[in-house]
Amino acid sequence: MKHIDLFNPVSLIGTDRGREFDYHGCTPSVDEVWQLLDLVPDPEIPVISVVDLGIVRDVRLNNDSWQVDITPTYSGCPATDFIASEIEQALTRAGIDAKIKTVLAPAWSSTWISTKGRQAMLASNIVPPLHDLDTLSCPNCGSAQVKQQNQFGSTACKALYTCQSCLEPFDYFKTI
Ligand SMILES: [Zn+2]
Repeated sequence: MKHIDLFNPVSLIGTDRGREFDYHGCTPSVDEVWQLLDLVPDPEIPVISVVDLGIVRDVRLNNDSWQVDITPTYSGCPATDFIASEIEQALTRAGIDAKIKTVLAPAWSSTWISTKGRQAMLASNIVPPLHDLDTLSCPNCGSAQVKQQNQFGSTACKALYTCQSCLEPFDYFKTI
């Protein structure tokens, strides 16, 4: 796993993800496959799953083979191959043979992030995408006195801000 160094999320190393489910010798329902996929974290924002981020677009069974369609958050996102491999491995551990297909159109939109995903982001000090950037407020204290420090935060998808009231830094996940 050469890619791991790029993201360094300790939670992804040596994972056993998928073993909670055992579909060896039987066929899960589509819902069960979605539940399993919900255990796979996004490598850049590990507090939310690839399902909550809206990366997983479709799950279906073609004859005896599962296909999972994924759309990267932005084209050229270096995490895409890694995500596909994490999804494939989690499914394989559970006994599901699947093909992962990258679908580039329609392009991923930040409106695809689920409500659960937005709540999880806020809880870890990342402000989820907003329609109106003027409504941006500090996730720590709620103050609107915030200032952009850097156009890019820990990843290109995010911008780094600092709250001028409580002085806490935080990331804003940009609207795409
Ligand atoms: Zn604050």
